[in-house]
Amino acid sequence: MSAVQSAPTAQSEALFARARAVTPGGVNSPVRAFRSVGGTPRFIASAQGAYLTDADGTRYLDYIGSWGPMILGHNLPAVREAVADALQFGTSFGAPGEREVLLAEQVTRLTGVDRVRFVSSGTEATMSALRLARGATGRKFILKFRGNYHGHADGLLVEAGSGLMTNEGHLGAAAPSSAGVPEEYARLTLVSEYNDPQALDALMAERGHELAAVIFEPVVGNAGVLVPTPEFLAALHRVREHGTLLIADEVMTGFRLSLRGATGLLGLQPDLICWGKIIGGGLPVGAYGGRADVMDFVSPQGPVYQAGTLSGNPLAMAAGLATLTALENTPDLYARLDAYTAQLASGLKSAAQTAGVPVSVNRVGSMLTAFHQDVPDGSVRTYTDAARSDTAAFARWFQGMLARGVYWAPSQFESIFVSGAHGDAELNATLEAAQAAYRDLGGR
Ligand code: PMP
Repeated sequence: MSAVQSAPTAQSEALFARARAVTPGGVNSPVRAFRSVGGTPRFIASAQGAYLTDADGTRYLDYIGSWGPMILGHNLPAVREAVADALQFGTSFGAPGEREVLLAEQVTRLTGVDRVRFVSSGTEATMSALRLARGATGRKFILKFRGNYHGHADGLLVEAGSGLMTNEGHLGAAAPSSAGVPEEYARLTLVSEYNDPQALDALMAERGHELAAVIFEPVVGNAGVLVPTPEFLAALHRVREHGTLLIADEVMTGFRLSLRGATGLLGLQPDLICWGKIIGGGLPVGAYGGRADVMDFVSPQGPVYQAGTLSGNPLAMAAGLATLTALENTPDLYARLDAYTAQLASGLKSAAQTAGVPVSVNRVGSMLTAFHQDVPDGSVRTYTDAARSDTAAFARWFQGMLARGVYWAPSQFESIFVSGAHGDAELNATLEAAQAAYRDLGGR
């Protein structure tokens, strides 16, 4: 190992100790605790553009972007000003307001759904969409894919990805993947392998008539990045022949892979779409939407109950409106994100090769995972494939990057997210750090 000197972490360590005394594991969302990579989680004091500054005053080049929302970089003036403007008029009304209408009009126009309902997180969006699917079809069962993560509603914590893939003792866990989820709930969730069209067809032939919905990540981020094959996408669309609703969980991919999300990029035709992250521009917003005939089952129009004290919150709506408007006004953004991330992918690959470290890269647009595995790029296609990664090697590489000022996603089984604030200087700095971090690992 080279003698790269890590930045001081005394303030983060002190905050982490205090946090552990008052919060389970010291964090409010598990992956932030760095359990799978070790070391001190950095407590963040501020964020600007492509950078985070921690409590010790060290600046890090950020590849998490708050796990997706900050597609235009942190602390975007347009978002800050929109929130500050909204703030003058009160923080929550518990009654409808114009901003909810404006954001709903923008989302329906951009995505092609007829109706949208706002909630406060991605978890609420998928949970509500599934209740709607059950209410609309009168069926009980749902189907998800191994290693896909759709938030933490009980019935979805079954063979789930994201933090659950690195929870100690839970790697490759059988259903359910969390304590506290009754088997009876888990039994209503069928699980199939992502990118296995034959398995999906077979399951649908047997159980399709009982299935309210099939929910899927159109490009997976939560097992690391997995790219769907055209055959798998075709099989997904066949589920509708059984009267089963197809739910695209675009919480991560929505407004990230294109203005119309993965649905636009891949030409999908889901019955319902779920959003989160970017739709709230860094404030707590989720949403679900679809055709009027399905969405009108939602109360008060229909019999499927779903509500929220802070749903459509004016500050959150203002941040969402400012973000989506900025995306619309930055026409070359998606091409720039794609070009940056393509260069990042090839730079990482050649740095790893030079150092003799086996790495297999999956990438779509500005989502990327470099799996520590000796297989060709693009051949990690399923949860089972992803789980073969050398997580110890990843952890060492992650620490090597962090010590050099690059804040990568602290788990092998996550995507990184590039933002519009990442430019040439950031790309060069990242690849320099990556070369050194791979060299430490590979010994050449
Ligand atoms: N679905 C997907 C695809 C996600 O990536 C996430 C969060 N990473 C969720 C749902 C849950 O969203 P939230 O964390 O806002 O509840």
